[in-house]
Amino acid sequence: MCLFCDIVEGKIPSTKVYENDYVLCFDDINPVAPVHVLVVPKKHFDNIDALAADPEGALYSAEITKAISEVAKIKGVTGSYRTINNCGEKAGQTVMHVHFHVIGGAELTEKLI
Ligand code: 5GP
Ligand code: ZN
Repeated sequence: MCLFCDIVEGKIPSTKVYENDYVLCFDDINPVAPVHVLVVPKKHFDNIDALAADPEGALYSAEITKAISEVAKIKGVTGSYRTINNCGEKAGQTVMHVHFHVIGGAELTEKLI
């Protein structure tokens, strides 16, 4: 069982922001900023390493990139947002279905890098 596969399949509800054949983008249940959307490929990959290694990785990566930009546009934060991917438990990944956080709508001052 995978939480985000269940959300993609509609078994668990989410607040949809954007969707196409490749991705589902929905509001994070525990937002850290006024805009906090998760960009999730509809195909299951455990993490970004699995995504990169998959024969369809390039296709899904391109679709994810376009979806991130589309989400920013829909939420009105084009040119002013942060994208985060946590890969692996030690890096803070808690849902083992690759996803990208799109965060914005506030001044993003705290920086790791
Ligand atoms: P990670 O820690 O793996 O990088 O990010 C997982 C994210 O999924 C967290 O920000 C968490 O708030 C979010 N999340 C966990 N469960 C749910 C859920 O059932 N629905 C939604 N919309 N977000 C969730
Ligand atoms: Zn999954």
